[in-house]
Amino acid sequence: MDLVKETDLRRRMVEEQIRRRGIRDERVLSAMEEVPRHLFIPKAVRHLAYADEPLPIGEGQTISQPYIVAEMTAALRLSGTEKVLEIGTGSGYQTVILARLCRELVTIERIASLSEAARKLLATMEVGGVTFVVGDGSLGSPGHAPFDRILSAAASPSVPAPWISQLSEGGIIVLPVGGRYEQELTRVTRAGSRTETEVLGGCRFVPLVGMYGFQS
Ligand code: SAM
Repeated sequence: MDLVKETDLRRRMVEEQIRRRGIRDERVLSAMEEVPRHLFIPKAVRHLAYADEPLPIGEGQTISQPYIVAEMTAALRLSGTEKVLEIGTGSGYQTVILARLCRELVTIERIASLSEAARKLLATMEVGGVTFVVGDGSLGSPGHAPFDRILSAAASPSVPAPWISQLSEGGIIVLPVGGRYEQELTRVTRAGSRTETEVLGGCRFVPLVGMYGFQS
């Protein structure tokens, strides 16, 4: 993909798919305009890198539709000072977007080959401040907690209890909650011993496979 063409495709992706649908967080919009999404897409479908759809990344997993990445990231309300936990590294695309917008990022993926490919790609892009973990992200990452924000790109039947206990005061979790095939994008905010839950809209994600998610 030549540089002028991909820069133009990215600008149009942000304007037509993301800003036009109501995302107003300028930091999120800039990050998505700058990060070369096509580098995260397998060659066979790379020509669709800036299309308005999720794409396969191997191992039966997907990279989310650009709008969903933007919507979830904006829903986290990042100012740049936060420590963030990402569940479901996948291709590493959302990892890079988050890394640009927060202070420190821990990203967990259950499939080792995906985590390793993402780690290598981020190293070539010289993205710092990211710790890669392979394992069951439904358990959170107790050794790195507490987190100011938690984002899950895999769907869970309910909010995993370890995420709430690893969330700092005033912290936010954004995740898809629901059945295996359809869910509601949900934002959970911690206020003392209470949590406040908001439904942001319908969505479709791959399942969170683990102790506090789906069993397979
Ligand atoms: N945000 C990613 C990107 O930009 O490419 C896409 C993530 S994909 C929709 C969801 C990922 O969650 C998959 O790679 C899947 O293997 C992973 N996953 C599912 N259950 C998990 C678990 N318990 N712990 C960690 N990762 C998990």
